[in-house]
Amino acid sequence: MLARKSASQTPHSHFVQCVNCKKTLFLADFESNLRVCTYCSHHHRMTWRQRVEATFDEGTWVEMDTELQSLDPLGFPEYAEKHAAAVKKTGQQDSVVSGTAKLFDMPVSIAVADFHFMGGSMGSVAGEKIARALERGVEMQAPAIVFCASGGARMQEGLLSLMQMAKTTAAVDKCRQNGVPYIAVFTDPTMAGVLASYASIADVILAEPKSLVGFAGARVSKQAGVSKVPDDFQTAEFVFRSGMLDRIVERRDMRGILGQLCRMLGGHLKLGALNG
Ligand SMILES: [Zn+2]
Repeated sequence: MLARKSASQTPHSHFVQCVNCKKTLFLADFESNLRVCTYCSHHHRMTWRQRVEATFDEGTWVEMDTELQSLDPLGFPEYAEKHAAAVKKTGQQDSVVSGTAKLFDMPVSIAVADFHFMGGSMGSVAGEKIARALERGVEMQAPAIVFCASGGARMQEGLLSLMQMAKTTAAVDKCRQNGVPYIAVFTDPTMAGVLASYASIADVILAEPKSLVGFAGARVSKQAGVSKVPDDFQTAEFVFRSGMLDRIVERRDMRGILGQLCRMLGGHLKLGALNG
């Protein structure tokens, strides 16, 4: 179910098909429109790099924590092979990338999850990068922004992956104790252990339209005996109506809204203690 929203593109094609309305789009138009369908406004998933380029000031991104490497502490069957395949496919080391950038000239600490890497699952490395990004916000005296995109905890790391929920939650608390604003953006999908830890306790929570947001997926909910749910169950719109997030933001407006929030919430900070 979680794999349903990647736009399909034939190799070497100049065209791409919207997964929602099925209309054919020029690849160049699709990319320049930030991977949002020009016919039905469906927001297709982005890689972490596309997200950074679409959101932050050009040329200001500095990646950090690149030394963190995933281990296979449980010797889980096929984990090492699957992880290696994901590294090869995406060119990144794990499902979360962390670093610093500027947003309208304001320094910010960032973590961006990428669903293309093992479903954005949170293992030890992803959790550590999220925690470091939040703690770096405290060190920098700059707002922390996390883009969420995950099916949940990484089952191949067992309890070590569930421990990341506590670690990231503690890092959020550190931001709170130091008056550093933390903004989370739910993108498609934001689920399970990620939603139940750092994602849902941000000072401000934004979401992209129609993003899948929930704890247990539809299949698990059915197994638990939930027989009837609203048509838009576990969408950003449903969650917004329930009061769990603050605003649904179109991708083209995300940079501007984040900039306003950082300026509004971070005005008391000595911005850029590390970045200068
Ligand atoms: Zn469409």
